[in-house]
Amino acid sequence: MSEMRPVADNCADVSRIESLLETLKNSGKNYDLDKIKRAYLYAEKLHEGQFRNSGDPYICHPIAVAEIVASLGLDTDSVCAGFLHDTVEDCPDKTNLGLIRSYFGDDVAMLVDGLTKMENINIEDKEEAHMENIRKMLLAMSKDIRVIFIKLCDRLHNMRTLSAKREAKQRTTALETMNVYAPLAHRLGMQMMKHELENLALQYLDPIGYEEVNTNIAEKYGQTRDFLENVRAYIGEKLAEYNIHFTLEYRVKSVYSIYRKMFNHNKTFDEIYDFYALRIIVDTELECYTALGVIHELFKSVPGRFKDYISTPKPNMYQSLHTTVIGRAGVPFEVQIRTWDMHHIAEYGIAAHWKYKTGQQSKAEIDQKLSWISKLIDTENSAADPDEFMHALKIDLFHDETFVFTPKGDVISMPQGSTLIDFAYAIHSGVGNKMVGAKVNGMITPIDRVPQTGDIVEILTSASSKGPSRDWLGIVRTSEARSKIRQWFKKEKRAENIVVGKADVMREITRFGRQLTDSQKAEIALAASKRVGMQDLDDLYNAIGYGGLSVSKILPKLRDEFDKYVKQIAETEPQIPTEAQQVKTATHKRTHTGGIIIDGEVGCAVKFAKCCNPLPGDSVVGFVTKGFGVSVHKKDCPNVIAGMQNEENRGRWKEARWDDTAENQDSRAVFESGIVIEAENHIMLLAEITTALADMKVSLLSINTQKRSATGMLIHLTVGCKNTDHFNSILARLRSISNIHSATRAIG
Ligand code: MN
Repeated sequence: MSEMRPVADNCADVSRIESLLETLKNSGKNYDLDKIKRAYLYAEKLHEGQFRNSGDPYICHPIAVAEIVASLGLDTDSVCAGFLHDTVEDCPDKTNLGLIRSYFGDDVAMLVDGLTKMENINIEDKEEAHMENIRKMLLAMSKDIRVIFIKLCDRLHNMRTLSAKREAKQRTTALETMNVYAPLAHRLGMQMMKHELENLALQYLDPIGYEEVNTNIAEKYGQTRDFLENVRAYIGEKLAEYNIHFTLEYRVKSVYSIYRKMFNHNKTFDEIYDFYALRIIVDTELECYTALGVIHELFKSVPGRFKDYISTPKPNMYQSLHTTVIGRAGVPFEVQIRTWDMHHIAEYGIAAHWKYKTGQQSKAEIDQKLSWISKLIDTENSAADPDEFMHALKIDLFHDETFVFTPKGDVISMPQGSTLIDFAYAIHSGVGNKMVGAKVNGMITPIDRVPQTGDIVEILTSASSKGPSRDWLGIVRTSEARSKIRQWFKKEKRAENIVVGKADVMREITRFGRQLTDSQKAEIALAASKRVGMQDLDDLYNAIGYGGLSVSKILPKLRDEFDKYVKQIAETEPQIPTEAQQVKTATHKRTHTGGIIIDGEVGCAVKFAKCCNPLPGDSVVGFVTKGFGVSVHKKDCPNVIAGMQNEENRGRWKEARWDDTAENQDSRAVFESGIVIEAENHIMLLAEITTALADMKVSLLSINTQKRSATGMLIHLTVGCKNTDHFNSILARLRSISNIHSATRAIG
């Protein structure tokens, strides 16, 4: 884990200033060293005789802050303000803003003012006064972003030295760091700052939890270091063959981000498999995609984990390619690929922009990236209530939470990515269980859609609803919704659960690779079920069926009983091998649904068949499923042609068409679609494909390559697209790439 280098303790030592000046001198930038030295001497004179709680002379703190400011690459005035930031507040009888302005100029004075707490606020309530200060800081920051950079450096040093404070002060400072400053650093894309602030705050907020995670990390890191070294060497060797200039490193996630996954998302340490990541840093964007191609050639990728933040950067300007692959030992790990520019922005965020780009254009760019701050201030000017202010601040800073309103105006907060089904269960299990549809801002919306902060959501229920669908278990994000759905199945659907659970268990036993009769399998299952305390086999099937017991939990016992059983019959029966374990094909949830009229009706619960992935523009037909609304296929899907032959189901096929009315054409709706490419293998092929898609702003959801012959290869892509016209334009663009022989729509 990378952290900013802590500063030395011997703060009163003059050599420390000399070495800071030396570093700035050698930085290749035009620092005004004379002005910086003057700022230091002035601050030292003003703070003379003042001491910190640790007993150190007060000047230690401004020196440390100025050092951190300089390490971010900020300019002369920022470094001066780092030295002077506490003078106006702490030495009111010796200096004031006017003096600072006359000695160091308007900019330094403005920065120091932004960093000085409000004077003489006539507010009784301490909490309210405190919020006023944060509001003032945000206001100053909206005028000049350097204010918040310096404020974050100030906070970082205070956190590093927090142990000297009283316990109550430690807690409030740590809490504020966690609630306000770390999210601010995150929004500004300053990952190193954010991680260090969070880790320090956690040490005070939950010291035992911090230790627990820290010990776990150390242990697991010890166990996996050889593995990482091997993978690193292996990848390095392959990349070198492609003549790419690269740097390879691996990093462990920060203690706090693992802590959050464990305690907020209810996972055990072993369930966090992305706790380390391999990072590849290359020179150009094109090389990022080439490197991605190499990784996907070497390892099997985990479906649904590929993210292209290069063509679609995060709101805080973060860019990288992320993919999760499975190593040769079956251990999944994340790979991040980026250029050096992207790397600096990932570590320093907007401060890196400050560091590397100057001039009008980047100023406009930064202003645009920061427009959220002024929006926040605007809404805050009208809100007088500090609680309300804090609430709004949190809504804006806590990116990973979604705040959704009920029609009555109650706010429900859910983890980001939660669906309308999660929302229904968050209100009440009775609402979730009777849910038949949902309206978002008055529009009928498919229930697996993810609402955004600020949406007004109304859940449509029906007394005649037959209850939740099993598919929902795979859709919901919150553990609350999942457990409520399981409870329902446990109570209401024993017969059905037994069928589902039995099928699961039978399938697992079949996978052990030996042909057995159903009654033989049942014998094995019963033995295993007794070992988990269930005397009746149906109880076991029921528990697996409603999801109370996962098949993977009982798997080792099944295996064990299977081995015993096979040993018993080994002498009388020759072993018959069965087919190899099927490799699961990559399936993705469709990102958007809806916009379909079934039998003349709008707003039916629909899902799109995965066999043919219909797109707006295709002729379609609906099939009423038993579990989950209407499944929509292309009319020429092989499954439809075969299915229509079946007399029994004739009545379940329904006329379907796309709703083309303007209000239903959601411009953001994206459908997943498969493409099959036949191509000549070429070093730049994958890079060209991914760049073509990025140029067209088409998101790439998965990519799989297969060698066909010495030079030929078959590539399966899944892309997000709007409709058949859009899809055809993507195909045309791909066909124009010289080494591609054909690009067609995937069937089945
Ligand atoms: Mn300070």
